Amino acid sequence: MSATILDGRALSAEIRGELRTEVARFRERQGYPPGLVIVRVGGDAASGVYTKAILRLAGEIGVQARLEELPALTSGDELRALLLQLNGDQRTHGIIVQMPLPAHLSQQMVADTVAPAKDIDGISPGSAGNLFLGLPSFLPSTAAAVVEILDRQRIPLAGKRVVILGRSNVVGKPLALMLLQRNATVSVCHSRTRDLTALTRQADVLIAAVGRPRLVTAEMVRPGAVVIDVGINALPEGGIVGDVDFEAVREVAAAITPTPGGVGPLTNVMLLKQCVRAAWLASGLEEEAPDLSIPQF
Ligand code: NAP
Repeated sequence: MSATILDGRALSAEIRGELRTEVARFRERQGYPPGLVIVRVGGDAASGVYTKAILRLAGEIGVQARLEELPALTSGDELRALLLQLNGDQRTHGIIVQMPLPAHLSQQMVADTVAPAKDIDGISPGSAGNLFLGLPSFLPSTAAAVVEILDRQRIPLAGKRVVILGRSNVVGKPLALMLLQRNATVSVCHSRTRDLTALTRQADVLIAAVGRPRLVTAEMVRPGAVVIDVGINALPEGGIVGDVDFEAVREVAAAITPTPGGVGPLTNVMLLKQCVRAAWLASGLEEEAPDLSIPQF
């Protein structure tokens, strides 16, 4: 048996089309586009590539996006002042601060300062708290991308056993809460988990978000499982692989995401989707806001 490939690029194109329509509708109704600001302090080449990809995507769907580039020596007070100014700017609906920050700046300060209504990557304690309580919330975009793939492929979750490898605040933990909300039975594994294979072999849906090349082998996967690979690992010899041994596991699984071309292409799309939602909510037209198929509460 060879698994169905869950094609993130095709899904991304589908959602981008929906977002273009949605942005045009917002613009017609409001007379201005949804607005996004990316704040980058210092930053390396990799973060530059990431920033450009978001700006390009925003341009493609009609969201007005701009980059606020600050020097690496920017103080905490200066960064905070910029965030407060953006919080008060009516044409800025979503704010993203590029991570990692230089060591002297506090990620916690950023998470505490960005207004909850503009926190489109779900980084703030308020967003995390809402998710925990099962209230509507902006969500970390990678976790949202995983749920979007499962939803759009109509993979049943209620009553299913889901095993997540990784417990980070941006992927594993929020995913666990979203999938609990969908009535899955969720186990979260991490570096101290014993006998990983005994757990992964029970999974109807196995999600790997670890950052270890090809950690998940065919023997760890129950035949017929759905496998979602979040990992992005650059190999020393060149090339990118996921956390799953794709070629071996595709012979066992029922469906699998490739890397690259699986979860990755959807992450920024989910960010923009949440920005469009933030714009509708900020305009006071909550009832007009589209069903963004952000996990249902
Ligand atoms: P992270 O913060 O480094 O977390 C990794 C998690 O994996 C931790 O919970 C760690 O456990 C766990 N872990 C480490 N070794 C393990 C092992 N041998 N067995 C089981 N669990 C193990 O990483 P992250 O930010 O969540 O990212 C995870 C991966 O996803 C990375 O490859 C990253 O590049 C990728 N990623 C992709 C996207 C995308 O757009 N597709 C976005 C974000 C991240 P402890 O908690 O015990 O340390």
